[in-house]
Amino acid sequence: MTTIEANLQTQRRRMALACQQADRDVTAVTLLAVSKTFGPDAVAQAIAAGQHAFGENYIQEGVDKVQALRASHPEAPLQWHCIGPIQSNKSRSVAEHFDWVQSVDRLKIAQRLSEQRPALLPPLQVCLQVNVDGGENKSGVLPDELPALATAVALLPRLRLRGLMCIPEPAPDFESQRALFLRCTALFDAMRHEHGAAVDTLSMGMSDDLEAAVAAGATMVRVGRGIFGSRPARA
Ligand SMILES: *Cc1c(COP(=O)(O)O)cnc(C)c1O
Repeated sequence: MTTIEANLQTQRRRMALACQQADRDVTAVTLLAVSKTFGPDAVAQAIAAGQHAFGENYIQEGVDKVQALRASHPEAPLQWHCIGPIQSNKSRSVAEHFDWVQSVDRLKIAQRLSEQRPALLPPLQVCLQVNVDGGENKSGVLPDELPALATAVALLPRLRLRGLMCIPEPAPDFESQRALFLRCTALFDAMRHEHGAAVDTLSMGMSDDLEAAVAAGATMVRVGRGIFGSRPARA
């Protein structure tokens, strides 16, 4: 067994245990493998171990991997999620190559993504990134501005609004982590109430805090280091 395969088993066990402890069905939470900074070989090992959904932060690096892995694994039902900041001049690459974008935090980018999504592809699946701590320099729409953004994005023809993503500041213990995630859960519940059943994805929790995120209602956790190992500092 490869290290990546063993790590995937460990993360799936963690998720199952977290679901059990939160009294949730194990199928209620899916795993996004965050492969940023790791090469196609590492992703191929994860695919061999049954993982099909991958998250990438850096657009060009992500697009290179999407193309390489789709070519080498034509039969695999791969799903690629953009989870990093998107500058305007990169939106076309995202619209043309990714299946999901979880890092939409302003209308201008959403409009570009909708305009640039190729007609032959299914709509781009979108989560809005929320800044739940209100940190000034962080990405993410502020909670007060979320309802208006969600309403506008839901109207864009080539996007499908699926839910929310958040990356809270690291917190020291389970309860304070959970309290931050619950802010996002409350926003998600309000959004579902407004926009209906298509809104089904609450993406929160990473290697260090996925238990607290599952306890707060996450439907997708995004794990990088727990699967692929520690990342080199990015140059
Ligand atoms: C890097 C990253 C992750 C994964 O973080 P780990 O701590 O390696 O699990 C998840 N989500 C986003 C948005 C990231 O940038």
